[in-house]
Amino acid sequence: ESEIPEDHPRYESLLTRHRIERGVDIGITSKQGLIAEGRGEAFDYLLGEETLPSADAAARAAAAHLLLAEHPVLSVNGNVAALVPGEIVDLAEASGADIEVNLFNRTDERMAAIADHLREHGASEVKGLAADGRIPGLSHERAKVDVDGIGDADVVVVPLEDGDRAEALGAMGKTEIVIDLNPMSRSAQVAAVPIVDNIIRAVPNITRHAAELADASDEELREIVENFDREAALDEAERAIREGDLD
Ligand code: ATP
Ligand code: MG
Repeated sequence: ESEIPEDHPRYESLLTRHRIERGVDIGITSKQGLIAEGRGEAFDYLLGEETLPSADAAARAAAAHLLLAEHPVLSVNGNVAALVPGEIVDLAEASGADIEVNLFNRTDERMAAIADHLREHGASEVKGLAADGRIPGLSHERAKVDVDGIGDADVVVVPLEDGDRAEALGAMGKTEIVIDLNPMSRSAQVAAVPIVDNIIRAVPNITRHAAELADASDEELREIVENFDREAALDEAERAIREGDLD
């Protein structure tokens, strides 16, 4: 990362790209993850590569949901592990959530490499390797979850999730917090809380809100959850993309 000059106008974008490349090199990110990254970059460019006020409100609502949850779980795929491994561990600590590895293209090697990578970044327990539960309505490999992880969760954070699985998790009655730069993506459309922001900014932002809300009463947290307007957040993001000034 050191060869990217910090004053470069696209510093963050280059850093992100570099981390994904490295993720592929060390076997935690799939080649399809590179394509997903490209789509994300395009949307981030259109959003001005900054957090919209509506995305910040969504991050705050996400923090409130996590703090109110019985059993919150953060789902980690190969892009998430490459981009924000330490930040995911911080969020798990700030919110009391479990971490579970969940891959669209699941291989034992990649599952193990991601779990190791997260442990190297301070995770004490990583779920997903038992794979003793199933999400109804999905094909075998993509349906696998841990019974005592996502299987048991009431609130799940699914960053960069595939639309099908986001829909199936919602149908299981789980409250879904999606991080996705494309507000038109099905994953964002089905989420209780769509955070339309780069995961690099969104995860530390949820953690910051969770720390700020650590002493809030359940009543205050419920009020934040109830006042969040998902339609308005999606609309604001789409408007920013359509009408934004590009530089
Ligand atoms: P569906 O339309 O069914 O939801 P998809 O076609 O969007 O699925 P992918 O291309 O795998 O499936 O989705 C990748 C998604 O992740 C894209 O919507 C992209 O905007 C988003 N994305 C990629 N990188 C990031 C990132 N760094 N932060 C946030 N979102 C990202
Ligand atoms: Mg999508």
